[in-house]
Parts: sequence; structure tokens; C-alpha cells
Amino acid sequence: MKIIRRIADYPAISGAKTGLVPTMGALHEGHLSLMRIAKEECDVVAASIFVNPLQFGPNEDFSKYPRNESRDFALAEGAGVDILFCPESNELVRDTKTTVQVHGVTDLYEGAVRPGHFDGVATIVAKLFNIVQPQVAYFGRKDLQQCAVLRKMAEDLDFRIALRFMGTVREPDGLALSSRNAYLSPSERALAPSLYQALLGIAEAYVRRGSHSVRADIEAAIAWLGERGFQVDYLDAVDWNTMQPTNIVDESTWLVTAARLGSTRLIDSVNVLESQTGEVLR
Ligand code: AMP
Repeated sequence: MKIIRRIADYPAISGAKTGLVPTMGALHEGHLSLMRIAKEECDVVAASIFVNPLQFGPNEDFSKYPRNESRDFALAEGAGVDILFCPESNELVRDTKTTVQVHGVTDLYEGAVRPGHFDGVATIVAKLFNIVQPQVAYFGRKDLQQCAVLRKMAEDLDFRIALRFMGTVREPDGLALSSRNAYLSPSERALAPSLYQALLGIAEAYVRRGSHSVRADIEAAIAWLGERGFQVDYLDAVDWNTMQPTNIVDESTWLVTAARLGSTRLIDSVNVLESQTGEVLR
């Protein structure tokens, strides 16, 4: 595995199909699953590790975000990464006066709770696309709105890159793997799977009852999570093409949530129909 720290050193690759997996490091099985899929589908797997300062708000966890290079390097190599791009902050974030802003799909949810977050994500992912020039890029659907934003960006800016959005890897008790899970105290960790249970409960109620609206179930789930100690930033049923609320349930309908347990912010999402049938909808 080649480790590249400077943009100028990034190798030009022609003739090979390159797959890119952007990450912020503190790698876990969710990241590694993306790298392994890239390995199956591409000739060259590139991954990036960059804790992107542009996507953190002033009171967020940028400085305490977990970082462990040597562990990450070993895990990435084990998952089949050929080129690992890990630039210093000032290599990617210079005196940048250009920002990629995706409108519409960023209006609500993470975009509303974390102003500027998706500008930071889209700007850095656009730069990674230009540096690495992959044919395919891989992202996790746990961060569903991020997928919607990047899909729109790639479409609007004519990036000739296929985006692949992959399923969420979970702990055996259902908690979605996340680098931020390391912040949870033992008692918070024990409560954390309730977030996924709440989403599954809403999806299950919908499928059991057929065409009824999910609104009442959503309100009940927010109250239930509140009783268990979560501060829910949002929990909603959305059409992931628009990232707007919906009452209709079809293949595009997802339940999305973000909630804080103590000082840890967890996010999760499930596709309503897929979560009940086990069938993967694309
Ligand atoms: P991050 O390092 O949190 O920026 O995540 C890097 C990529 O890994 C993003 O595309 C995430 O959506 C994806 N990812 C994070 N957690 C998971 C998970 N539990 N399962 C699948 N993909 C994930």
C-alpha cells in the first residue's frame, strides 16, 4: 500500500479502474466493507483519511475526533487498499475561496442542524474526485443525506464518476458502527441501539398496517427516545431523492434520525421497505 501525503505526489493512473473510498479515519468495519467492495469491483482501490475541518461546526468535535494513523494504515492495507491518501489539513484546506454548495437536498435534517456542514463535505469530496480521478466512489447509506448531496453534486457538476451507496454495517445489537461510538460511556452504549430499534419499530408498524401514515408512529418514537435519555435532533420519513418529508411509503422512503446521548451525537437511517423484507433495493 502506497501512502501519499501531498497532492503533488498523487500518482496519475491511466487505464485502470480506480475506486475511491473517502473517510475521516478511525476506521471500523463500516469503512472496511466499502474498501472490500471497491476491491471486488475495481483494479485499484484508493482511500482517503482526512478529518475535514470544513465539515465541523465551531462547537463540534473536530479537535477530539479519534485519530490513530498506524492502526488505520494496517486496517486499510488488510482491506485491500492500494493507495492511501492522507493529506495534512493545510494541504487540502488552503486559502480556499471556492465552495461547492448543493441546494435543496441540504435544506433539512443535517443541513439544518449543522449549517455549512454539507458545503464542507461537498467541497472536499469534489477536491478528492479531482485529485484521485476515480471511476467509482463508495459511500455508506448510514449517512443518507450525504449520499443524496453527493449524488446531486456529481450530477450537477458532471463528474464522470459512478457513485455507489452501500448498506450500513451494525454491531450485533443493531447500533450502526461509527467512529463516534468510541465516545459513549458504558451506560450510553447500552442505550444506543434504541435509536435503530425506534426506526425499525416505525417501519414495522407501517408495513403491518399498510397504507396508514407514519406520522403518529414517528411522534411516538421521538417521545419514547426522549424518555430513554436521547435528545432527538430530528426523526422523519423522507423521500431520499429530495430529502423532504413524505407520507407515502415506497422504495425511496427512508427513516432518518440524529439524536444525542450525553455529548455523543448518533445518526442512523433505514429504508422502510428494505428493513422489513431484507431485500436490498437500489
Ligand atoms: P466517515 O469516516 O464517518 O466520514 O465515513 C466514511 C464513509 O464510511 C462514509 O461514506 C460513511 O457513510 C461510511 N460509513 C460510516 N459508517 C458506516 C457504517 N456503519 N456502515 C457502512 N458505511 C459506513
